[in-house]
Amino acid sequence: MNEARIAVVTGANRGIGSAIARELARTGMRVACIALHLDLAQEFAAELDGGSVGFECDVSDPAAVKECYAAVVESMGVPLVLVNNAGVTRDGLLIRMSDEDWEAVLNVNLKGAFHWCRACASGMMKARYGRIVNIGSVVGLSGSAGQANYAASKAGLIGMSKAIAKELGGRGVTCNVVAPGFIETLMTQELPEQARAAALAQTPLGRFGSPEDVAATVGFLVGEASGYVTGQVVAVDGGMAL
Ligand code: NDP
Repeated sequence: MNEARIAVVTGANRGIGSAIARELARTGMRVACIALHLDLAQEFAAELDGGSVGFECDVSDPAAVKECYAAVVESMGVPLVLVNNAGVTRDGLLIRMSDEDWEAVLNVNLKGAFHWCRACASGMMKARYGRIVNIGSVVGLSGSAGQANYAASKAGLIGMSKAIAKELGGRGVTCNVVAPGFIETLMTQELPEQARAAALAQTPLGRFGSPEDVAATVGFLVGEASGYVTGQVVAVDGGMAL
């Protein structure tokens, strides 16, 4: 079995994560599709060709991640590709933001990615090969009113990814961040029309992105052609952050 072809994608059952999982499967990878609910994970994995498998895991729970990583290794082999995509928002103005909303977002978006990076690192180091992509956001670069928790989590991913790039580079492991702008998914569908119009007005390419736009860049960063790219933040945002 070629272990470089086994990939973990978190939050794989819908939105950007499902497009990433499809893209990796299209290039011949077997994808461990991680979702909060087993039935959704398995249903989605069954749609992919070539031996992808669904797993249930709450990424914010360190014990669950440890257990899930062991299950992936047991049933598929050692994954040498990791895409941390699972993410949540709990927007609110700073003065009204509860501790719960702050923690919930940091726990999934930042700590969840940390848990999976830590779990996968030993296998990658041993193989002297690995590709890690963390899904950030342009908000982690620019900030966004009403999203102190989300912006902090996505900015934190950038620092963590650069640290990992430096720490594991000598073992052939790359770690990069893809920072999407406004992408059409459930996360953005519920925003008020005024916010959508404002986002569009700030996007030089004049359209919202699709999950496939993000998946194509992730496909590059986990592939052979990007072997000399590490510690970078690649915005897939139609020019929004310029
Ligand atoms: P969605 O809300 O459509 O999907 C989020 C995914 O994460 C779902 O599969 C969800 O599972 C999963 N998830 C949430 N919490 C957990 C958890 N604790 N453990 C495991 N899985 C979890 O979001 P998008 O597809 O829009 O976003 C994907 C990523 O891209 C996120 O990190 C987001 O921050 C980022 N992003 C999105 C942008 C956009 O415009 N859409 C812009 C910039 C960044 P379930 O279905 O069970 O809820």
